[in-house]
Amino acid sequence: MKIAGAAEAAATAAAWRKEGLSIGLTPTMGCLHEGHLSLIRRARLENDRVIVSIFVNPMQFGPSEDLDRYPRDLERDAALCREAGVDMIFHPTPEEMYPEGFQSGISVGALAQTLCGKSRPTHFTGVCTVVGKLFNLLRPDRAYFGRKDAQQVIIVRRMARDLNMGVEIVECPTVREDDGLAKSSRNIHLDAAERKSALCLFKALSSAGEQVAAGARDTQALVRHMRDLIESEVSASVDYVEIVDPDSLAPVGRIEKKVLAALAVFIGKTRLIDNVLLEP
Ligand code: AMP
Repeated sequence: MKIAGAAEAAATAAAWRKEGLSIGLTPTMGCLHEGHLSLIRRARLENDRVIVSIFVNPMQFGPSEDLDRYPRDLERDAALCREAGVDMIFHPTPEEMYPEGFQSGISVGALAQTLCGKSRPTHFTGVCTVVGKLFNLLRPDRAYFGRKDAQQVIIVRRMARDLNMGVEIVECPTVREDDGLAKSSRNIHLDAAERKSALCLFKALSSAGEQVAAGARDTQALVRHMRDLIESEVSASVDYVEIVDPDSLAPVGRIEKKVLAALAVFIGKTRLIDNVLLEP
């Protein structure tokens, strides 16, 4: 397994394509956990060659966000990738990705302005720009994304279609800890008390699921119920709790078909997100 910068990774991927080998890409920001590994394993099953990109993308962090404290551990990540049968880690420097004079970007419309887009207005332009660059550099056949970041995978799929990128976007289920907390690189920041509080995201979503199964249909009441559950935790503060259409991300009033319940919550200083599909 090689760990390559931009020029070497692009040349290697081009050589694989020339040999007729299919390429699966799993974009990550590193500090890999079981969630990432589930994407990597799926890519391993479906492609001749697997590339994992590890890049903490400055463009998707806002000025007051956690870019500097985002966890990094390339050595551990490389060992996990090797074990999972990855062929190449693409690990560019910020200067390689954003050389002096860089001033272009990919932005997606309404899908990027709701949910996380409200409190992180430049986030999805950063995500789409870096993912677009990864696709151009490596030209994968398939790219693997987690449903944990539901809005992200919806936006990336829209972008790939809208801009004829020729990459199949594969969505993989959310991997959780035994108690239900969605795995996240940011969970590392939680102290013991916060780790307990963090369970309120999953509890709120599960409780909404139970209420819908019992016949609840009014999304306002469900959102209020989820907010109340979360706000009863001392260290938790809600960024948003919403119930939206799973394709358009538009708000839904009454639940008549499958909807997406999505939320973002600060546990202390750490912002966590999670979501589930609710079916009437
Ligand atoms: P990140 O390194 O957080 O940018 O995540 C890289 C990819 O892994 C994204 O497609 C995420 O949606 C996915 N991912 C992160 N956490 C999980 C999880 N718990 N389950 C499934 N996929 C995940």
